[in-house]
Amino acid sequence: MILWHRIHADFLMPSRLGEFARLLETALHADYEVMGIQRFWRERAPSEEGSERRFVLRHDVDTDPGTAAALWQIERGLGIAGSWFFRLSTRDTALMAAIALSNGEVGYHYEELATIAKERRLRTRDEALAALPEARDRFRANLAELRVATGLPLRVAASHGDFANRHVGVPNWTLLADRSFRDEVGIDLEGYDADLLARMPLRSTDTAPPRRWVAEDPLAAIGRGEPVVYALVHPRHWRVARAINARDDVARIIDGVRYRLPRFRLPRRHG
Ligand SMILES: [Zn+2]
Repeated sequence: MILWHRIHADFLMPSRLGEFARLLETALHADYEVMGIQRFWRERAPSEEGSERRFVLRHDVDTDPGTAAALWQIERGLGIAGSWFFRLSTRDTALMAAIALSNGEVGYHYEELATIAKERRLRTRDEALAALPEARDRFRANLAELRVATGLPLRVAASHGDFANRHVGVPNWTLLADRSFRDEVGIDLEGYDADLLARMPLRSTDTAPPRRWVAEDPLAAIGRGEPVVYALVHPRHWRVARAINARDDVARIIDGVRYRLPRFRLPRRHG
């Protein structure tokens, strides 16, 4: 990304909350039923009485629970409930409980494999695959702790994408590709499940302006009257949180530098 675009996106961008509200209002006016991924998956086909048009709305709270709360307030005002995924670093038990109370779907945005890859500076696919049992142990413990802390069932999860995953070529969702592990920890649905994605062929993900959307603006799909429109949104692209973004940018730079350091120190000389 051009540096100026990055600075603009992280520090200067005017709030896009109004644009967010207009997108959802447009979907509602065009007779879309807005829902989270769990409900979309459970219903399989449009219900008899329900709308034939479905707008699947997922939020990955990578940063900034404050803007997540602002997005949720907009949706609550419109009577909408989507899916919300929180990382360990963005967990906000009050917001998570409030979303669940208003029929929103709350899930875990997990990244245990990336965390271990960064801690150990794993470089290759084989090294990452060898770390899967340990990553699963951590996932199990983190999810259990999060369930206790929130009092929520958290039966849906979505993998976070980290530079370390791209480096080793193994996404975090590999953890949940193991069906028996998934059953053991009580996860019913993963946001990247192939059969879920197959039912939502038109997928848009928000990104920083000026581009705004990867694939296409969901308004275009709504305008064409597509039966299923899917949008994945992240708080940081809708309202700037300068202090949070500065901290996040610095943390990512440090993570990147640390990851590239050589793994083994020179042997100490004795004597
Ligand atoms: Zn994420």
